Parts: sequence; C-alpha cells; structure tokens
Amino acid sequence: MKRTSISIFGATGSVGKTALKIIRENKDKFKVNVLTSNTNVEKLVDLANEFNPFAVAIADESKIKILKEETASNDLIYFAGQGGIIEAASINSDITIAAIVGLAGLKPILESVKHGGNLCIANKESIVAAGEIIYRECEKYGTRIIPLDSEHNAIFQILEGNKDLEIRKIYLTASGGPFYNFSKEDLRKVRPEDAVKNPNWSMGRKISVDSATLMNKGLEIIEAKHLFKTDDDQIKVLIHRQSIAHGIVAFNNNALIGSFGKPDMIYPVRYALFWPNGQLEQREDIDINILNDLSFIEIDENNFIALKLARESVKRGNIYPIILNASNEVAVRSFLEERISFLDILVVVQESIEYVSKSIQIRSNHKMKVKDIFEVDNEARIKTDEIIEMRH
Ligand code: NDP
Repeated sequence: MKRTSISIFGATGSVGKTALKIIRENKDKFKVNVLTSNTNVEKLVDLANEFNPFAVAIADESKIKILKEETASNDLIYFAGQGGIIEAASINSDITIAAIVGLAGLKPILESVKHGGNLCIANKESIVAAGEIIYRECEKYGTRIIPLDSEHNAIFQILEGNKDLEIRKIYLTASGGPFYNFSKEDLRKVRPEDAVKNPNWSMGRKISVDSATLMNKGLEIIEAKHLFKTDDDQIKVLIHRQSIAHGIVAFNNNALIGSFGKPDMIYPVRYALFWPNGQLEQREDIDINILNDLSFIEIDENNFIALKLARESVKRGNIYPIILNASNEVAVRSFLEERISFLDILVVVQESIEYVSKSIQIRSNHKMKVKDIFEVDNEARIKTDEIIEMRH
C-alpha cells in the first residue's frame, strides 16, 4: 500500500510533536517528506535521524552547519532561512501540517497550497490575518483545509456528518485559562512561568499565554468565521471549565450537536491525518463518566477585553484582524521576555489597534493581497514595539 506523505512545518513544536507521535505509531501508513524548525537544531537533528525525511529546513541560517553535520542520511536535502522554509513548502506532499506559530507560517502555507494535498492547519494567526487569501488560493489549487485546532476540528467533524443542515450557531468552548477567577491584584503578579502552564492542555508558550488572556478564544472566533463561512454573530463563546466539549453546533432543525472527548491534541490531529477514512483501530476505551458535571456559561463578552477586541476586529474586517494579531504576537513575546506585565498585554494590543488603524489608510473595497498583509503586519509590529518601549 502506498504510504501517505506528510510535510510538517513547525515539527519541533507541540503540534508537530503530536503529529509525529501518530506517524511513529503508523509507520506503515505514513512517510515524512519535510520537517522544519525555527532555531531548535538539536530536536530537528533527532527527528531527521529518526524519520528519515526527504528534506529538512531550519529558519535560523546559523544552525545549518550543525544540521548538516549531525544528520545521518547522505541524500537528505537541506534548506535554511525563512526563504528555505518556503522552498521546502514547494515539495509535493499528500498532507501538509501547518504548525508554525505566528504569521511566520503564512508564506509556507501559501506555497504548500500550490503543490496539492490536504492542508491540516493549526497556525491560527495566519488564518486570522489572511483567511480570505488562504481560502482563495486553496480554491484555485483544489486544496482541502482540515482544521487542527481542537474546537474547529470538533466543529468540522460535526459539520461533516450534517452537510444538509443549516448552521444556526456555532459554540466555541473556552476553559477560561488558568487565571479565570483571579482578581486584578492576583493577575498583576502573574509571571511568564505561571502563564505558560495550562491546567487542561499541553501547548506551546505563545498559545498558552493567549489562553490565559482569552485572546486565544478571540483569535478562534475569527478563525471559525473563515473556516466555516459563517457570520461572526453566529459564533458564540461558552466558558466550559472542564475542556471536555470541544465544539457544539446548533442547526436550523433545532438539533444541538456536540463533540466531546479528553483534552488532548492527539484526537484532532489523528482525525485530520486519517481523514476522510477515520482510523480503524482505536485502542482506547471512552469513559462515559467524563460527561458528568459539565458546565457551560454564556458570558458577556464586553467583560473580557480580548473577546471584545477580537469581536470588533472581525466586524471591522480589512486591516483590523491583521493589526490585532501582530500586536498580540509582539505583546505576548514581550511578556515572555519580562518586558511588560501580564495585565499590560491586552492594554498594549488595544492601544496599538487604535493607533495603527488611524495611521494606515483603509481602502474599504480593496481586495487584500499578501503584500498588503505583511505591510500592515510590519507597521503594527513596529508601533507595538514603540508602545512597549514607552511603558518599559
Ligand atoms: P510551539 O511554540 O510549540 O511550536 C512552534 C513551531 O514553530 C516550532 O517548531 C518552532 O520552531 C516553529 N517556529 C516558530 N517561529 C518560527 C519562524 N519564524 N519560522 C519558522 N518556524 C518557526 O507552538 P504550538 O505547536 O503550540 O502551536 C503552533 C500553532 O498551532 C500556533 O499557531 C497555535 O496557535 C496553534 N495551535 C496549537 C495547539 C497546541 O495544542 N499546541 C492547539 C491549537 C492550535 P523551534 O522549535 O525551532 O522554535
């Protein structure tokens, strides 16, 4: 049987690791084509030596010498630099996993779309900033998008089984993060090491901080609008502390269909890699008791700055989601570098959106191009850095 070829962009990260665990357990079904990392050469070397891919790419060019010296295979193809990651995306694969964090993942996504296969996408920042362009390109080249984000993957699964029904509402569940019941005084004391620990999920540093500020859910509202082609008003957020229900859809026939399971990325990633067939041998038993004592709380989004900012950005559209994402990426990085406090993150994002949106001329009927996205992104990053410098 022909094995399914897979390219993993962001192979050394949390989503990449989950995908590789599934591939490791199914070596007769999958073969690895491309593996990439940003700076983590040690892990990339280990993965290359274990999975024997066709090509490897590292964004940090200074690490290419070590990568070449330490990898065992003679016929391995090497790429370096951000350009090298994009080149690696031009290698055809049956499945591309987009698991780079941040807008750095956009160009490799757009390149991979031209070369066929399914696009299994976790990189929500690229969807937020460039969802329309990604879809336009996927339609042009016949590429199928399968969401990896657990909530969106759950909704995708629900919609797959109910294609004839009309969506009334999509409920995105949010755990609320580790600091949901914290007072402002407690939040003031939050350190990066506290924020990168999520009680329910094991994830990379940036998304963990986003979960703690609730910006992750804000980004997911915009992500859902693109993935499911719904009006943003149809997407509702529910606080669900247990992280057992990953997505719920209300249909026009009054059916309310939910997807439940343990909070582990292995399930959505496995579903996506085996789509559309599903995996035949599921080894684990499902414990029905996980459904006990679930709670769902409708919230007033105006009380949560991240949700309010995301909601306003998606309503205004155009450059706003790009500024939201860029400011948030810079603010989170600054928090992790201890340049700003946890409470400063959203204040900085808010200030940046107000400032940058005034300084950039909005062309309302203008169809955004990739170049425009990076221009706005760049301006927002510079301004956010200035705002942070002033606070610092
Ligand atoms: P991680 O931080 O764990 O991994 C990020 C990966 O991207 C690493 O391989 C990293 O390389 C690489 N990378 C970072 N910056 C660059 C760059 N500039 N150029 C090329 N490669 C780069 O993140 P996660 O795996 O947690 O998340 C990845 C994406 O998936 C994010 O968009 C996140 O929002 C989304 N997501 C994650 C989930 C999770 O459970 N983790 C769940 C749902 C969505 P290196 O290791 O060298 O730094």
